[in-house]
Amino acid sequence: MHQFSALSTLPLASSYFNLWTDDFEKINIGAYQLTILHTNDQHSRIDPFPQDAPKYAGEGGFARRAALIDKIRNELKGNLLLLDAGDVFQGTPYFNYFGGKLEFDLMSRMRYTACTIGNHDFDNGLKGLDEALRFAHFPIICSNYDFSKTVLCGKIKKSLVINKKNIRIGIYGLGINPSNLIPENLFGNTVFLDPLTTAQEMEDLLKHKEKCHLIICLSHLGYRYEHEQRLNDMTLAEKLFHTHLIIGGHTHTFMESPNIVRNAQDGKVLVTQAGWGGLRLGRIDFQFDEVKNVLSSRFLMEKIF
Ligand SMILES: [Zn+2]
Repeated sequence: MHQFSALSTLPLASSYFNLWTDDFEKINIGAYQLTILHTNDQHSRIDPFPQDAPKYAGEGGFARRAALIDKIRNELKGNLLLLDAGDVFQGTPYFNYFGGKLEFDLMSRMRYTACTIGNHDFDNGLKGLDEALRFAHFPIICSNYDFSKTVLCGKIKKSLVINKKNIRIGIYGLGINPSNLIPENLFGNTVFLDPLTTAQEMEDLLKHKEKCHLIICLSHLGYRYEHEQRLNDMTLAEKLFHTHLIIGGHTHTFMESPNIVRNAQDGKVLVTQAGWGGLRLGRIDFQFDEVKNVLSSRFLMEKIF
């Protein structure tokens, strides 16, 4: 039902198979490895797309994704993080009926590590999000929405540090400018903070204070805008210093492999996004050297069908 089984035996057999090399494992036997799996803009697509849908007929669905994640988890003996870049809510009657509780409950069962907040996650207001959050048994991270004067005060994390086999991973999250996108009555007393300034503060904290070896940004800013000056993942990446990976959302961008962008100090940032609707599961494997610097990475975009 998916293409993972082709991964090690049929290199370059599918268009979703990119820069995936079996040499990776041989670069440094015994080096630390960590796998990141990611989704974005799930938009309440619990079931596969309907068989009579004009696009993506029969594709996607939480159950298939859960099975694929389980399979990868077993192969990697749990050495992975599972992340989402927001807009979990809205798009099918499941959201209208259950208000996002089902999505968060199923994501908890898939053992998501963390997710950030998209504009549509406000569609039932702060109270609606708060009620659904009781079903999210994983942290929600957003660094540039200040919820301190709202019902969500203390319930959303600014950043997260995780230890996996002594690799310290720092994660922060960026929400999009709500103006003309999120109705004011739904955004309530949430204060929007500048995402670039916030990102630089977060990577400073995670790099220098928290001593993280890998820094990941969960962004709902959007991948790229042709005719707008709005900050997006590609322009953000150029201005960052310590972030290794931006997992994006909002623009529903299907990518076969991450874009590799030069950051402000000539380091590399991977910028990626996995379409929308649970149609893809992105995978990035990082390899670290003895002092836990990122040594190399490889990518795979899994089609869920
Ligand atoms: Zn969005």
